[in-house]
Amino acid sequence: MEKKRYSKPQAIPREDLEKALFMANEELSRANEKLNQQERERMELFRNLSHDLRAPMTALVSSIGLLREKRDMDEAEYQDILNLMSRRLKNLNSMLDEIFLLGQMENPEQRLELESIQAAALLEEFYFSCEADLKYAERKLTLSLPEDMYCMIEVDPQKIVRVLDNLFTNALRYSKPGDEITLAAKEQGGRLQISVSDTGMGILPEDLPRVFERSYRADRSRTPGDGGHGLGLAIAKSIMEKHGGTIGVTSEPGKGSTFFLELPILT
Ligand code: ADP
Repeated sequence: MEKKRYSKPQAIPREDLEKALFMANEELSRANEKLNQQERERMELFRNLSHDLRAPMTALVSSIGLLREKRDMDEAEYQDILNLMSRRLKNLNSMLDEIFLLGQMENPEQRLELESIQAAALLEEFYFSCEADLKYAERKLTLSLPEDMYCMIEVDPQKIVRVLDNLFTNALRYSKPGDEITLAAKEQGGRLQISVSDTGMGILPEDLPRVFERSYRADRSRTPGDGGHGLGLAIAKSIMEKHGGTIGVTSEPGKGSTFFLELPILT
């Protein structure tokens, strides 16, 4: 039997080893920097959330104190305090709901409840559901869909409606009576493109790259007390990414904003 001959392993040149070591080191410090950045963002999120949670809690505690102390208050005053408490509780509840949803969507193990549905049907249904809000808000909402849009998408409908709802709520929140909101969609290169635009106050160029960050508000004082917590767009972004989609924005201060969504179409 012929004996197998093994050749002596070639020594890797020192220069190549040093280069590989240098590159591994670089990669490690990039990963480290990313981790540090994530940690900084997490700490900032905790700071902002505890600040935002404290405000309605303090108001609730002082309202309870008032109810305890002022036993002779009239019915109107009593109802005012109860209404205020109810608003604060609703605010707390919606904040906790957003924190929970953001946690779910950022968890890679959390699965979506996917369904194949017609994109136009989902958008039309959402459009009609907004009509109730618009009666009081005095904004005009237009739906613009191509007549021959029959494409199907595979999505978790509740989550996509949540994204649309966040964009629509923002369009209402950052516009005034008489402004216009447009929900539009089209197919482009095997993707579904949806946009929600408004003719509201717009976003300053320096704030634009940060609006999808968790708990970022362009102007914390500008957000109404019972309004957003700066989590809506971060939630929208993580929902879109979980669907293999994207979200983006263009805006002009004083003229309005357009938020774009893109989703893969089923073939
Ligand atoms: P919030 O709950 O504060 O609305 P979001 O995450 O939904 O938080 O939005 C982040 C910030 O982006 C908002 O605080 C606001 O400054 C800005 N923004 C979002 N949508 C709009 C819009 N349609 N027009 C103007 N500013 C917007």
